[in-house]
Amino acid sequence: MPVDPKIIEALESIVGPEYVTTDEVILASYVSKGIMGLEAQRADIVVRPKYVEEVRRILMLANEHKIPVTPVAGGLSGGYACPTVKPGGILLDLSRMNRILEVDTDARYVVVEPGVRCGQIWRFFRDNYPEWAPPIPDGAPPAATVLGDALERGFSLVTSKYGPQADLVLGLEVVLPTGDILRTGSWALPGAKPFYRWGLGPDFTGLFLGSQGTLGVVTKMAIKIVPHPEHKDIVALAFEDPETMQKVTLRILKKEVGVMVQGGNWWLVPTRMDHESKLPHDYEFWKKRGVPKYFMNFEIWGITKEHLELEKKIIDEEVKAAKSKGEVVDYWKLHPRQVASRLKKPNKIAIPYAKWRGAFLFITWYLPWKGLAEFMKICEQKMEEYGFAPVIWVASIEHGRECIGMPIVCFNNRDPDDIQRVIEFNRETTEIFLDKGWINYRPDAKIHAPAMYSRAQGYYYWLKKIKQLFDPNGIMHPGRLCL
Ligand SMILES: Cc1cc2nc3c(=O)[nH]c(=O)nc-3n(C[C@H](O)[C@H](O)[C@H](O)COP(=O)(O)OP(=O)(O)OC[C@H]3O[C@@H](n4cnc5c(N)ncnc54)[C@H](O)[C@@H]3O)c2cc1C
Repeated sequence: MPVDPKIIEALESIVGPEYVTTDEVILASYVSKGIMGLEAQRADIVVRPKYVEEVRRILMLANEHKIPVTPVAGGLSGGYACPTVKPGGILLDLSRMNRILEVDTDARYVVVEPGVRCGQIWRFFRDNYPEWAPPIPDGAPPAATVLGDALERGFSLVTSKYGPQADLVLGLEVVLPTGDILRTGSWALPGAKPFYRWGLGPDFTGLFLGSQGTLGVVTKMAIKIVPHPEHKDIVALAFEDPETMQKVTLRILKKEVGVMVQGGNWWLVPTRMDHESKLPHDYEFWKKRGVPKYFMNFEIWGITKEHLELEKKIIDEEVKAAKSKGEVVDYWKLHPRQVASRLKKPNKIAIPYAKWRGAFLFITWYLPWKGLAEFMKICEQKMEEYGFAPVIWVASIEHGRECIGMPIVCFNNRDPDDIQRVIEFNRETTEIFLDKGWINYRPDAKIHAPAMYSRAQGYYYWLKKIKQLFDPNGIMHPGRLCL
């Protein structure tokens, strides 16, 4: 149902009129078509609650009147926190719920509300708990939130060591559309602390991770914090081809070195600049400036200086062993400013990809590490075929048990032909990658979800059943999962 004046009045009485708006310009400012997805609709109204009880009352009102609700934390997932349905209904902007509620350095977790941004929590820990790091996303801007990224199961600054963000979540507090409040993990026991993920029986937490706000509104999250030593460095390795990069890196990763291990191809460098800039786009130019064809950065943290040196030594031994086998690998000598910019958290490293054509799309896939070279080659070939700069980024998840791979499609979002080419590229590669058993981890509504669920119909059937259980009136937005 649409939002009528009576509903607006009721929402104003819950949060106060200053936190409700139907202003067209503000509604449009939330819409994002790029970064992670191209589909996004304008909501009818933005409501900005501060307290859990306000969220509960808003959801009960929406449930009674069957009005769609889309939760947004930082809104930096690029349209994933925008409605996909019409009418768009209520956009529940949770940015005012921005308290860091508890830090426990013994059980090693922090409890946050949805609006706690990465810049805010990073500063808070540097000032108050410098020996601990909150798991902020590795490359997302400071305005992203810890909770939003963990719900998305994103990749953090320590993902190569600790796995996806979702693996660090210990418990959630969720307001369901019916107004019930559900806590997961050990938190479900009244009076218990959120110290144990697996809780009081089969655990519900995983249902909400990756659910894109389709099942309820998470109002608190307990998430692990990790040791944050002062001794840090970046070791960058250079390769001529992706096969050698895959092999040598995996051998090092099996020794469990590095907190964040990521790299890609040389195209990651020029596409951070304006397409019209005078700098050439051919590899020979960048080669002369020391940029390798393929590279992998190992961010290493040492509890002591000796620990840091030991990690570097392990890498060095593998590099020497590879060279003795005739494999072409070398060090990429980084300028101290390049090292500093990679170590800076939170960073703005990925934002410049918008400079190339005006917008970009991260199309993210999970695959076994051993698929990395093939993934890169297919992406490079198909991106060139469709007329895009073949920019590919890859990273290790949990010491290379998995690889996250991402073509960064730089496109002109004001040109309908460009948008159509993005769609066609995405459609063709999705079929290729699903055939190989690779998984799109932030599925979009038009290509990934239909292609994936048509192959996994049994799983989709049960997902729909779960959705009906938590959200019987279907008021939570369907997300890109088409739920
Ligand atoms: C330049 C750039 C670089 C990036 N780099 C990274 C990176 O290195 N690692 C990474 O993982 N990601 C990265 N991202 C993606 C994105 O920024 C992160 O995933 C981000 O942290 C998401 O958090 P958010 O607060 O912006 O989430 P939002 O966009 O607000 O929400 C994400 C999803 O969760 C749902 N949601 C939000 N809040 C709630 C709630 N309280 N209850 C229920 N559902 C909710 C939304 O509906 C949406 O589907 C990057 C994005 C950009 C623009």
